[in-house]
Amino acid sequence: MESAAILKSLYDAWLKAATEVLAQTAGTKQGMQPQLERFFGLLVQALETGDPAWLDSIVYLWVWSQTDSDLSDSRIAVVEALQELMQVTMRVVREHLDDSQAIRVMETLLPYWLHMLEYAANQEMRAQLDHTTSELERVQRELERLDKSKSDFISVAAHELKTPLTLIEGYAAMLRETLSTAAPEVLAQVSPLVDGIFKGNARIREIVDDLIDVSLIDNDMLKLAFQPLWLGQIFRSLADDLASALQERNLTLKINRFPGSNRLIFGDVERLQQVFRNLLTNAIKYTPDGGRITIDGRLLPGFIEVTVSDTGIGIAPEYQSVIFDKFGRIGDPQTHSSGKIRFKGGGPGLGLAIAKGIVEAHGGSIWVESPGYDEETCPGSIFHVLLPLREEQPEDGKAPLFAKLAAYIRKGEQKGGLK
Ligand code: ADP
Repeated sequence: MESAAILKSLYDAWLKAATEVLAQTAGTKQGMQPQLERFFGLLVQALETGDPAWLDSIVYLWVWSQTDSDLSDSRIAVVEALQELMQVTMRVVREHLDDSQAIRVMETLLPYWLHMLEYAANQEMRAQLDHTTSELERVQRELERLDKSKSDFISVAAHELKTPLTLIEGYAAMLRETLSTAAPEVLAQVSPLVDGIFKGNARIREIVDDLIDVSLIDNDMLKLAFQPLWLGQIFRSLADDLASALQERNLTLKINRFPGSNRLIFGDVERLQQVFRNLLTNAIKYTPDGGRITIDGRLLPGFIEVTVSDTGIGIAPEYQSVIFDKFGRIGDPQTHSSGKIRFKGGGPGLGLAIAKGIVEAHGGSIWVESPGYDEETCPGSIFHVLLPLREEQPEDGKAPLFAKLAAYIRKGEQKGGLK
């Protein structure tokens, strides 16, 4: 008798044994009996035709009908079930046939089982991969949704805060006005208090403005006003602005002239000033008293690279990209202390995120290099800003006007008349 016919004769015994074993391992699943019947029918059909591919359809169905929770425990359940079925089949064959017949049937069946196991393992891997990918996509969508609601909240909160801030400013100005006619002793007593209100208000306004900038960047709404500029001039004006802070902290700021610093390029002056102000105030904050800050750079094909380096506490490698994320501060927020120029006086963690947004809106990039973080040895940090060497007004905007201005200025530059 052929193996297929022998196997058929064992159907009842096989079905009973297979149902029992699978019920133990997989639990009594409804509809298991018809599945086993179908499986057996296909196995016989495969044997009769000599083509194991007859079994693919049922194995495929078993693998892909697994639920998300079946797949998320990352078991290869169908492969395991097929192994069980293989053992059951071999046992039934051994128990019901004489040795030589049993060996012949087992030998015939073996390649079919191998085919099934290989096919099932392959499909299970795909199903797991699909499941993991869709899980990842779901988590990614959730993160994006969270980030969007965080960004919306920041934007709404920042705009809502602007109105009361303007009110406080207005009332403080009226108070100062009223005080101008007050008796000198009252004036001396109350003036510092009013100054305090102005100072506090200005600080909150800066934070609110930073929050608005962050939400503009997040929503790709940062608009640049391209104008002709010299980076060297931006550095010098920042050095003037920060002179008292540098003096207070006994820090020296060296601005090196480099090819490119006095070249006329197009960019948003105010926004680039904001980038380098953020980098310089950070350099001030994270460098101990008596340290050095240096602005340098070089001209590269199509780009100007500016570096702002300090002799400060440095940044650990694992934080070197995180610090450019919004609220990407290092350390425990519980120990957060604020101070605009105080040593290690951390801010809300927006400065570098804004700098990155502005530099990228210019088509450039920003990154940091530092051997690591060490408050004792102060290895320092070097922030690199790479800006496209734009020598003409970008297409949209007030191109003709600025192009003319740039041409005029460049002519003066070539004659050595302008800087
Ligand atoms: P913050 O408002 O905290 O200064 P930033 O976005 O400007 O926010 O900087 C993020 C973090 O990067 C800072 O909290 C600080 O830990 C680190 N950092 C920035 N600049 C420097 C620097 N020059 N030296 C050392 N650490 C720095």
